Amino acid sequence: MRDAVNAPRVSYYDYIVIGGGTAGCPLAATLSERSRVLLLERGGSPYADGRVLDMARFSDVLADTSDSSPSQRFVSEDGVINARPRVLGGGSCINAGFFTRAAPAYVRAVGWDPREVAAAYRWVEDVVAFQPVLGPWQAAVRRGLLEIGVLPDNGFTYDHITGTKVGGSIFDADGRRHTAADLLRYARPEGIDVFLRARVYKILFDFKGDKPVARGVVYRDARGMVHAAYLSPGAANEVILAAGALGSPQQLMLSGVGPADHLRSFQLDVVLDLPGVGQGMSDNPMNAIFVPSPSPVEVSLIQAGQLATVPPRSRRDAPEAIARAVEAMSQVPDAALRGGFILEKVLGPQSTGHLELRNLDPDDNPAVTFNYFSHPDDLRRCVAGITAIERVIRSRAFARFTYPNFAFPAALNVTAEFPVNLLYQRGSDPRAFERFCRDTVTTIWHYHGGCQVGRVVDRDYRVPGVEALRVIDGSTFNASPGTNPQATVMMLGRYMGVKLLRERMLIEGPGRKHP
Ligand SMILES: Cc1cc2nc3c(=O)[nH]c(=O)nc-3n(C[C@H](O)[C@H](O)[C@H](O)COP(=O)(O)OP(=O)(O)OC[C@H]3O[C@@H](n4cnc5c(N)ncnc54)[C@H](O)[C@@H]3O)c2cc1C
Repeated sequence: MRDAVNAPRVSYYDYIVIGGGTAGCPLAATLSERSRVLLLERGGSPYADGRVLDMARFSDVLADTSDSSPSQRFVSEDGVINARPRVLGGGSCINAGFFTRAAPAYVRAVGWDPREVAAAYRWVEDVVAFQPVLGPWQAAVRRGLLEIGVLPDNGFTYDHITGTKVGGSIFDADGRRHTAADLLRYARPEGIDVFLRARVYKILFDFKGDKPVARGVVYRDARGMVHAAYLSPGAANEVILAAGALGSPQQLMLSGVGPADHLRSFQLDVVLDLPGVGQGMSDNPMNAIFVPSPSPVEVSLIQAGQLATVPPRSRRDAPEAIARAVEAMSQVPDAALRGGFILEKVLGPQSTGHLELRNLDPDDNPAVTFNYFSHPDDLRRCVAGITAIERVIRSRAFARFTYPNFAFPAALNVTAEFPVNLLYQRGSDPRAFERFCRDTVTTIWHYHGGCQVGRVVDRDYRVPGVEALRVIDGSTFNASPGTNPQATVMMLGRYMGVKLLRERMLIEGPGRKHP
């Protein structure tokens, strides 16, 4: 890894990968086995930031809103406070670490080869995945789920299957984080250049007749110096966008690929009118219930301070609203916070939204709307989840973590009344679970879409209508895989890397020497 201030002003590669994130790192590492790869990441190194590597400091990173933070806060138009990564390793450097594969039905629906998928998961898991040690609260939730009939008991597994399970983690037994950046250890060092603090501004195109052909990128280093990287001549050479669910649609639009009217409203030259860019944005809604507890609860990852929504009306005043909420939270007496949270996430989801440019700065957040619970199935699932949580809390297995006079409506009330839930309308009936779902909705950060398969890319992740351009990351998902997406995002980077190398061999023949 080198800082982009040391990068050449002009350079040539077989592959240029934009975004050194969860998909970008395994993809670039794999491609480097047989080609010359440039990996451009706008953030810094995860190894230089102790907070990234330490499980106990998960929330410190999210709370750092400075320009050099590995986490960049954004507030969706729905009013939900959210975060996106800005660091080599991407989301795997700032996330909560849960690691679980996609369900076999998901793999079939997407059309991936199950054997290759299994091999790619193993390649990832050998480096980054671990079996977690459960604390007493977590163990009680697990036993409670079994007691209420969420069966079978699958024990510990990376598989996404019906029943109760303990999933994996990218934190090891010492609480040290292992990230997608660690997968770069698989790279062939002579085959790859990784530049940090390299912000891509534009993908460059030539035209073959009417057809645009990607030919390189322009990026800036931390001093504002402009660099150009071009594809070397070669039929298999490509620019690959892996800038994540916000970054990839944003970068396509900034480069002139997207809905023509929207691009023209920003005086952008239209390279290809592709209305699907920025469509199909989804974020799985998460709701958390606070359970006041007489027994101490171990610290696990997601803490109250991160759970926050601001009313859409005041989203332009979000920083002030957030500051007020944080201040109000600090006034809540410690005794009132003695307890723990149980969370539920809605699968899918079915509700979708869209993403639009706000300005021409690739480092600024685009405007994104998720339309949480606009589809009735999502609301039904949320209510079912809250009902299941109530049954777990009432189970015998969970008894030591509840007060004898525990009343579920009161728990909902307490949760909804936390000052961070600014959407909550006091006086409304908190027993109405649907209302609770809507009023306390927050994110589990599994947002995806914007360059979906079938809308923006084909099943080989190529952008049809453009040559030498693919998108390979979570922006291509039509639904969030498994309970949690990161394992599948990393798997996809490896899976597509292997596929691209195979395509290259067909084009060039096996005899080509390492460049
Ligand atoms: C706080 C949080 C907690 C989460 N918890 C979990 C969890 O416990 N388990 C789980 O499975 N998933 C979790 N997720 C989700 C998961 O981490 C993401 O779905 C996944 O990391 C997305 O990967 P990606 O490759 O699509 O994008 P990213 O990992 O976001 O990678 C995109 C990269 O591109 C870079 N980039 C963007 N624009 C540019 C540009 N113009 N020039 C250069 N570089 C650019 C970014 O800096 C970033 O590093 C969490 C996410 C967050 C934010």
